Amino acid sequence: MQSITKRWLRGSLLISVLVLALAEGLFLSFCYQNLYGGVESAMLNRFSTLVGRLQATGTAGDTDATANSRGQALRRAVEQFDEKDKFEFMLLDSAGVVLTTSSGISNENLLDGTDYYRALTSSSGVGRTIFRTRDGERVMAVTELVPYSAGNVTAMRLVTSLALVDRRWWTTVWLSLGVVLAALGLMLWSGLFFIRSIVRPLSQVEAIAHRIADGDLQTRLPDARYNDEIGRLCRTINEMAEHLTETERMKNEFISSVSHELRTPLTSIKGWVETIGSLHDPGDPNYRKGLEVIGGETDRLYAMVEELLDFSRLQNGIKLNCQVLDLVAEATDAALFVEGRIRQEGLQLVYEEPPEPYPVWADPARLRQVFVNVLDNAIKYSPPGGSVFLTLGRTDTAVTVTVRDQGRGIPPEDLCQVKQKFFKGRNAVRGSGIGLAVVDAIVTALGGSTDIASTLGQGTTVSITLPVYHPGQEHLHEPI
Ligand code: ADP
Repeated sequence: MQSITKRWLRGSLLISVLVLALAEGLFLSFCYQNLYGGVESAMLNRFSTLVGRLQATGTAGDTDATANSRGQALRRAVEQFDEKDKFEFMLLDSAGVVLTTSSGISNENLLDGTDYYRALTSSSGVGRTIFRTRDGERVMAVTELVPYSAGNVTAMRLVTSLALVDRRWWTTVWLSLGVVLAALGLMLWSGLFFIRSIVRPLSQVEAIAHRIADGDLQTRLPDARYNDEIGRLCRTINEMAEHLTETERMKNEFISSVSHELRTPLTSIKGWVETIGSLHDPGDPNYRKGLEVIGGETDRLYAMVEELLDFSRLQNGIKLNCQVLDLVAEATDAALFVEGRIRQEGLQLVYEEPPEPYPVWADPARLRQVFVNVLDNAIKYSPPGGSVFLTLGRTDTAVTVTVRDQGRGIPPEDLCQVKQKFFKGRNAVRGSGIGLAVVDAIVTALGGSTDIASTLGQGTTVSITLPVYHPGQEHLHEPI
């Protein structure tokens, strides 16, 4: 399984290790150049002083004499060499044989020869080598060919011990490696510490979220312990659990109220069927009354089944079958559909049909459901004698259907929740609380919006806005 720690180790830590290794490599190569290059250039400086002196030596015109006097000068320089404790100064002939040394003894140990041959082959006339003497001492030898003829002297050679420089080099190596390792250790420790501070609460969040997902909706995360992204994640998960609990409660309530409500009409239908069955005279007043009751109860059952269908649509997502519709015609149809009920409740429908069509891209059955649900609420919550206003308006881009009633209104604290599924306000008379949730889901799927404004005791206004259909824009209103 992937983990944040592994990802961190593989990603950022690996990059840090590579960067540190590169920095260490560059640092060490710089130090090496500085230390060993410094020794070499110290020797070359001495050679160039001597070469400068040689240039001034000699007699004009007599080249042999000049060469001899240069040879003499070099030998003198070797004898009088005052840094014998640091360097061994030698003169070599053309075969690379030592002619004289500053210590006076020809130390076989210091003869390696590589530097001399390198000097012979290099264009600068300088050759350098580092080797280990038979005593095990590391030394650096630098040979420079004498640029003038100087008798039998062909080259100058300086040899110096590297014991001190080596010691300094290894101290630098170990110190810098120590610093790099300490930095890496610190990085590893602080990184792991930081990651653990994320991973540990996250594992806890994961375990509790699992429990919630498994149906334990009472479990909550300690959201006050962390005041950061994790704390916010905990709060969000808690809110989600709260929401799930509430939905679960409302769903159970819905199922129980629907089952309960199904029983009453069924009992009534059953009773009347039995009564009618026992009647022998079709002219009996109970015969007609019974049929009326059965008809009425069947309507109630039908409405309840519609609600159940709405419920299942909400759960499974609203499916639309859209086409170009005239919103005015649809509104007029809906007005006619509810007219009977409006009159029955002692209300009055105020509707002025706009003269021109309002084209929209919508599903006729679902649009009818939107109208019926909103008008049904207006009728349900209006006192007898009141009016329900159905108004249509349009701009270039949108059409708005407004249903206004003069009913009891929605308490402000309920207003923001009325579009939630299963929500029933404290003013609710009957219903399962999914009417406006279905309206909102359909209108949203059609690319529109639902706005509800209400004043307690004065009435409620539900405004539904849909985009105007322009030919060739079907793709903009693609059904969801
Ligand atoms: P139902 O399907 O039970 O009618 P709705 O989702 O349509 O539920 O409405 C949710 C709640 O909003 C209702 O229980 C009621 O409290 C409130 N409500 C909706 N429309 C109106 C209205 N026109 N007047 C007053 N209250 C309303």
